[in-house]
Amino acid sequence: MKVFHTISPLVQYLDEYRGKSKTIGFVPTMGALHAGHISLIEESVRHDDLTVVSIFVNPNQFNNPDDLKRYPRNPDSDIVMCKQAGASVVFMPSVEVIYPEPDKRQFDFGILDKVMEGKFRPGHFNGVAQVVSRLFDIVKPNRAYFGQKDFQQLAIIKRMVWDYSMDVEIIPCPTVRESDGLAMSSRNTLLTPQQRASAPLISKILFEARNKAHSHSVDELLAWVVDSINQDPLLRVEYFSIVNAVTLEEITQWSDAENVVGCIAVNVGAVRLIDNVLF
Ligand code: AMP
Repeated sequence: MKVFHTISPLVQYLDEYRGKSKTIGFVPTMGALHAGHISLIEESVRHDDLTVVSIFVNPNQFNNPDDLKRYPRNPDSDIVMCKQAGASVVFMPSVEVIYPEPDKRQFDFGILDKVMEGKFRPGHFNGVAQVVSRLFDIVKPNRAYFGQKDFQQLAIIKRMVWDYSMDVEIIPCPTVRESDGLAMSSRNTLLTPQQRASAPLISKILFEARNKAHSHSVDELLAWVVDSINQDPLLRVEYFSIVNAVTLEEITQWSDAENVVGCIAVNVGAVRLIDNVLF
């Protein structure tokens, strides 16, 4: 496995590979890798001749400077995990390599980047679009793998690829969970033991909500989920929205959309966790 920190040698290496008509799979991450990331890497290893993993904590997508400062970083163990998962290339650039000059591009994805995470983390998805488009330019992958855990991000990336006619296939991958149901996240390592013990209530309630969905109205279910999670004094729901899984518009009746997803953000002390469930 090769590790690159700068763009030119990586591009040269990938160009030679592309010349041999091999496919390139790409898994962009912010590191502090866990089994969720590894499932994306393994999916690429299964489908592509060469798998590139990027590890870059993108400052432009953090609206909260403390969150950026606290974000977990384990570059050495990340490299070992990528190798074990069968990745061929790791790209670990510095901020200066990705943004030699400030990125002033403004993306507009209509309602997709205005609701839920977009509303509570202003500028977040603009930063995501900046880094992912830049990484796509560098790696020029045939396929790129994204987790459904970040449901809204996935919708926005698909839209960006469509809007800008980017020549890459986006592959959604299912959310990987701990044995107690908590969605894996690099941020889980920041939880205290008490907070960690409370956090699985989030997915437990989401799964119960899925079972209750058709015997309750959308409004009843919205209220029930928020109340049930807030029963735990360590958990504070920031939002729970039940939306059309394609447009991300809120629905008021189950018949409003064919595919419906419930997306949630919960503050657990200073740590913010997100999860979602397909109804
Ligand atoms: P991050 O490092 O948090 O930016 O995540 C990098 C990629 O891994 C994104 O496509 C995420 O959606 C995906 N990912 C993160 N957590 C999980 C998980 N628990 N299951 C599946 N994919 C995940």
